[in-house]
Amino acid sequence: MSCIFWKILTGEAPANILYRDELVTAFRDIHPIARTHILIISNRHIDSVNQLEPGDEALVGHMVLVAKELAKQEGVAEHGYRLMINTGEHGGQTVPHLHLHLIAGKLARFLMG
Ligand code: 5GP
Repeated sequence: MSCIFWKILTGEAPANILYRDELVTAFRDIHPIARTHILIISNRHIDSVNQLEPGDEALVGHMVLVAKELAKQEGVAEHGYRLMINTGEHGGQTVPHLHLHLIAGKLARFLMG
């Protein structure tokens, strides 16, 4: 599979991995748009929200709870943060592997797309 996130998951490509469990892996975005910009991705290959199915509720809920814990760990929980899942071309998705952005701090540039 040529997806860059798949390569990060398999260790073929480097990443600053902050967290990993049986369902998700989290690492810092290579082009952060704010001081804190972390990606929480599914360990299973899923192209986007469009490919989610009944039974994936636990995975999606877990992604949000991991984001909450990472926000706490980053010291941004109190002041707040954004959680974002871009979906498809018009949704600004550039990497076809399900991921949740955790973004906190002043935006360096506005969201693409
Ligand atoms: P999307 O635009 O699909 O919602 O988000 C993809 C994100 O992945 C972008 O914010 C982009 O900067 C990040 N990204 C793309 N390639 C890499 C990479 O090789 N390593 C890391 N850490 N992030 C990447």
